Amino acid sequence: MTDTHQARLMDGTALARRITETSAASAADLLRRTGTAPCLATVLVGEDPASVTYVRMKRARCERAGIVSRHVALPASVSTAGLVEAIGALSEDPAVHGILLQHPVGGHIDERAAFEAIAPEKDVDGVTMHSFAAMGFGLPGFVSCTPGGILRLLDEYGVDLTGKHAVVVGRSPILGKPVGMLLLGRDVTVTYCHSRTVGLSSIVRQADVLVAAVGRPRFIAGADIRPGAVVVDAGYNPGNVGDVDFETARHRASLITPVPGGVGPMTIAVLLAQTVEAAARQLRTVAP
Ligand code: NAP
Repeated sequence: MTDTHQARLMDGTALARRITETSAASAADLLRRTGTAPCLATVLVGEDPASVTYVRMKRARCERAGIVSRHVALPASVSTAGLVEAIGALSEDPAVHGILLQHPVGGHIDERAAFEAIAPEKDVDGVTMHSFAAMGFGLPGFVSCTPGGILRLLDEYGVDLTGKHAVVVGRSPILGKPVGMLLLGRDVTVTYCHSRTVGLSSIVRQADVLVAAVGRPRFIAGADIRPGAVVVDAGYNPGNVGDVDFETARHRASLITPVPGGVGPMTIAVLLAQTVEAAARQLRTVAP
């Protein structure tokens, strides 16, 4: 690859828009056929500014797609039992089809206990052990939204995954670990890297498909991108900067996600799609 080579961009904004249009059409159809619109409940603990913004964005996008948004705001001082009770009530409420607990929830709360209070059929954010296990077994269920969005992007751009070597840098429960599992389910050979990995650069250089999910600006150097590799940058750091050094990587990759406008928009699109799917299943009718 030469300095004049430019990778093709994987446009997450455009794909997310198309997915959301499909979700909106399905939501409208569900309302017409059943008299009920899909409903996503968001649960926010405390007033962390970033979390407040994320929840506001998700609610606004829901409403634009014809998904009813129910919001539960709890004080930062809420106990694990209080949070579990609030989520449990939403799990039992037939008018609620999907539940999203915005995290982090605060150090004094048992986050896992709170997530597990979400009924599996309403776990549209893919955070429960049930969803994680179903994904691991390759069984139907809701996937973690950002990993699900990454797979949709790769499919949209016709990336042939079978037999390829993917290197996933990062192993968080919501991003790195599940994206590797989804790739494994597609017959990819997956290598995970993390903060204790020795010789990261030489491993990254072997990647046919690189997924960067670290949370460190420009952590992956362009020189480490194998010529022709597909580069997915899930990182989103202050200043709209990804985990990959885009300006150098774009001269070596065949396909690359920009930051912003790559992986980011896909997360909410998958959340909305899974909410409509959950509503369709709970209303015992099939969304087209
Ligand atoms: P996280 O929970 O902090 O996990 C970061 C991962 O990177 C960990 O597995 C960590 O390894 C690994 N890591 C840290 N330093 C490393 C190093 N020097 N070398 C190799 N690996 C290293 O972060 P996250 O929630 O997965 O998020 C990662 C990035 O994705 C962030 O920029 C975040 O903003 C972005 N993100 C975007 C979306 C979206 O919607 N687009 C959604 C979620 C996250 P250890 O496990 O060993 O600590």
